[in-house]
Amino acid sequence: MDWPRQVFRIAMPNKSSMLQKEEPHVVIIGAGFAGLAVARGLEHAPVRITIVDRSNHHLFQPLLYQVATAALAAPDIATPTRKLLWKQPNATVWMATVSRIATEQKQIVLNGITLDYDYLVVAAGMTHTYFGHDEWARHAPGLKTLGEALDVRRRILRAFEHAELEPSAKRRRAYTTFVVIGGGPTGVELAGALAEIAGRTLARDFRRFDPKKARVVLIERGPRLLATFDESLSAKAQRELEGLGIEVRTGTSVTEVTEELVEIGDERIATRTVLWAAGVTANSLAAQLGVAADRQGRVWVEDDLSIPNRADVFVVGDLIARTQDGRPLPAVAQLALQSGAHVAQNIKRVLRGMPKKPFVYRDRGSMATIGRHKAVAEIGRFKFTGIFAWWLWLFVHVMSLVDHKRRLTVLFEWAWAYFTWQRRSRVILEVPTEIAEPSAVSLGRRVMDTPPRSTAVGLRETSSEKPQVKAMLG
Ligand SMILES: Cc1cc2nc3c(=O)[nH]c(=O)nc-3n(C[C@H](O)[C@H](O)[C@H](O)COP(=O)(O)OP(=O)(O)OC[C@H]3O[C@@H](n4cnc5c(N)ncnc54)[C@H](O)[C@@H]3O)c2cc1C
Repeated sequence: MDWPRQVFRIAMPNKSSMLQKEEPHVVIIGAGFAGLAVARGLEHAPVRITIVDRSNHHLFQPLLYQVATAALAAPDIATPTRKLLWKQPNATVWMATVSRIATEQKQIVLNGITLDYDYLVVAAGMTHTYFGHDEWARHAPGLKTLGEALDVRRRILRAFEHAELEPSAKRRRAYTTFVVIGGGPTGVELAGALAEIAGRTLARDFRRFDPKKARVVLIERGPRLLATFDESLSAKAQRELEGLGIEVRTGTSVTEVTEELVEIGDERIATRTVLWAAGVTANSLAAQLGVAADRQGRVWVEDDLSIPNRADVFVVGDLIARTQDGRPLPAVAQLALQSGAHVAQNIKRVLRGMPKKPFVYRDRGSMATIGRHKAVAEIGRFKFTGIFAWWLWLFVHVMSLVDHKRRLTVLFEWAWAYFTWQRRSRVILEVPTEIAEPSAVSLGRRVMDTPPRSTAVGLRETSSEKPQVKAMLG
């Protein structure tokens, strides 16, 4: 029975309504691993938290490629941020896009509203870069958001459907040629999954062509795949991929991407499906902080993860530029979690009048999966490959899902796929629709109607910002 608990909750004074206006306001931009770790780390702190994200969910990016390749469904790896924080009375969740940061004024602007802060944590992550060829983006989607994963899934599944309809053998070949650009973990995982889809999942589903003859090409500009791993693991991964029939092209730069081909110098690969896993750059909000950044736009932070000359502004997660033991910190989930938790601790220390502590990253290792019973893992001095690394990969990823109930669903999906070679999320969703975000005025009024939070967070409407229209995918 749930209702007695409901009554109890209503009868109890709402903790948030007891919070004083004077309590410091911590604004967090981004509800990824890093932003969420900050919010959770401040659960019992005497602060008001507003966590703002342009999507309504926390996303487990390491399993995005599984949604893109139909192994998992979108809700398996995404949980509404509200659901994750509903038990935390000092946290307010807003779905909005931050467009401006004004550190001098201690304000940010989102959906046309100005929001004051006492402490700002920027956890907005990275986005794709096409190295000056933004026109490639429409032909070669990247994998960073759930919308993009669903778009990639649609493109892959549609390519097979089009091949079945296509009378010309040449054009059918183009539909069943898949090019993945970028040989990091995401590119390797995508290529491996594509080989499995063609070779096993869809092997018997079509009548006019043989999916097993599909061509998968993985292109990497650098000299080897998985550049951040030990060389022996890169070589192993390449051998495993080639064993799956994937053409691996290292030391190869793509010179053109169109709707119908990928060009590598003089060579042209006719294809209708190109996937981009090649480059990332810092979210544009990082540049608004007005401090030094590295080549990818990531912010050089101080030891305590604040930005130079601004003790009240912190940067966490992928946006951090920092070296430790002479090596740059990796943009991985562990860095996001650890830096987020560290900033929460430092804010609490400041509130207690204690000095902030310097951040030290603890490397827990890295791993990438290639296909069934095939993976590579590097943990400290130890290197693992094959079936052990694969089971390790499965275990670590399922245990890392933030929504504990989802672990069971994901385990079930994986067990099903393991025994049947099937992928259950093969539905092609309809084309995108456009949905208008709430305007500044409507959002402002709505929030201001719910005291005391409106006054507490120092909300103001700004007329300079126009409401935005966001394209929603699938
Ligand atoms: C396909 C893929 C596979 C990966 N695999 C692995 C792996 O196997 N192991 C591993 O350790 N790491 C992996 N990573 C990296 C890991 O996911 C990231 O390091 C981690 O997600 C970074 O967390 P973050 O909180 O800094 O940023 P993110 O998780 O990117 O979160 C940033 C958040 O900010 C929000 N945001 C951005 N701009 C705005 C704005 N203007 N207004 C409001 N909100 C905004 C975004 O919506 C997002 O929710 C992978 C990443 C990808 C993309």
